[in-house]
Amino acid sequence: MADRISGEEARRIKRDLLGVGDRTKHRSRAASPLKGLVRRPGAQQRVYRYRFYPTPEQATQLQQTFGACRWVYNEGLALREQAWERHRVSVGFAETCRALTGWKRMPGRAWLKEASSTVLQQVLRHLDAAFSRFFKGSSKRPQRKRKHRSKDSATYVRTGFRWVEDPERPGTASVTLAKQTVPLDVRWSRALPPGQLPVKLTVTRDRAGRFFLSVLVEEVIAPLPEVFASGGREPKAVGLDLGLAALVTLDDGEKLAHPRLFGKYEKRLASLQRDLHRKERGSKNRGKARERIARLYAKIGDVRRDLLDRFTTRLVRENQVLVVEDLAIGNLMRAGTGTGRRRKAALNRSIGDAAWGELLRQLTYKCAWYGRTLVVVDRFFPSTRRCSACHAKGPRQDVSIRAWTCAECGAAHDRDTNAAVNLHDEGMRIYRMVASALPPGRVPPSVIRASELEDLAPAA
Ligand SMILES: [Zn+2]
Repeated sequence: MADRISGEEARRIKRDLLGVGDRTKHRSRAASPLKGLVRRPGAQQRVYRYRFYPTPEQATQLQQTFGACRWVYNEGLALREQAWERHRVSVGFAETCRALTGWKRMPGRAWLKEASSTVLQQVLRHLDAAFSRFFKGSSKRPQRKRKHRSKDSATYVRTGFRWVEDPERPGTASVTLAKQTVPLDVRWSRALPPGQLPVKLTVTRDRAGRFFLSVLVEEVIAPLPEVFASGGREPKAVGLDLGLAALVTLDDGEKLAHPRLFGKYEKRLASLQRDLHRKERGSKNRGKARERIARLYAKIGDVRRDLLDRFTTRLVRENQVLVVEDLAIGNLMRAGTGTGRRRKAALNRSIGDAAWGELLRQLTYKCAWYGRTLVVVDRFFPSTRRCSACHAKGPRQDVSIRAWTCAECGAAHDRDTNAAVNLHDEGMRIYRMVASALPPGRVPPSVIRASELEDLAPAA
């Protein structure tokens, strides 16, 4: 593989590739964080999401914007990949921005101008971030965005919208997006912190055809007072076992059942899916059938998010340290054998995965907001096999075994509660170790990942 080309030679190649004259002004412009994104001390970024109902004109303009965003993303991706594969030249954010100027000037591309130019630049910024994550090894190579497969989304930075707070109703505002003439009809289901100018807005359209406005604000969120285990100086902790039988089992034996949404909607989903397969590929009716399925999934997602929101808020309020296992979520729910059960198992799995993913996402940001710590125990920790009373390690157990008795000490265990107790103990061991290594006055981080700690002494 040839080395990377730089200097005058690279500039010449880029000039040809981008089709736009080289300008020194742009050459030094790197993808730096937006000025608006530099946080005030102590401020957390928080996203508030609202449903809105576009007028037909707004809907059309947003549809065009989503299409332009997708096109620019794919074109930027192709440009960066080609430059590297064919010429060994690396093209960065600034150069894709220059190329964008050229694309807009091309005949037949006037529709690109229907979208706000700052929105399109944000797309290139996101692409750049996706490449950075890829180079760091923290995510996969950026993929092309496809209509109906990728989420429709457009991001507006401060110059891309007008925001006038409603003096009558603080925490709500009149919002007008660039390239639009009338404010959006937003349902302000909860008040924003008043007196805020958002850092940025993201408009999305989900697969059920619903429009949402996500408002990113900076907010100083006061940490909750510390909570201690009864009668001690020890922080109060809770171990959470995520599983198949119950979505979550706590170390005190409390269980949160899997949302019974699936059972409730199963028949309807199955009939909709049969419907879909009967429709001709590419037909209008097939599109409609797909939309009905998407609406049902969206509904399931909403109910799940709400349910978990209440649960995680309570857990974070009541505990200082929350302990979970590092799960390769995809592997956890294995499909049952037998062809008849395959499809059901796959569906079950995807719904379970989504619930756990959402649970961890909520715990992560709530711990950061409220000054709590989430400890993620290594996935090789034998939480299920170990007896929480005497720490003897028992044999591997099939998932179907819900209760067992320790052969060493005779303790009777509920499978999941025992695992949650083990997680609690192991999590606290890690937490204490990290806390004791901190300089005085420093608080433990909001997330501790055992897999990222060095010299972790083995569990006693
Ligand atoms: Zn035992």
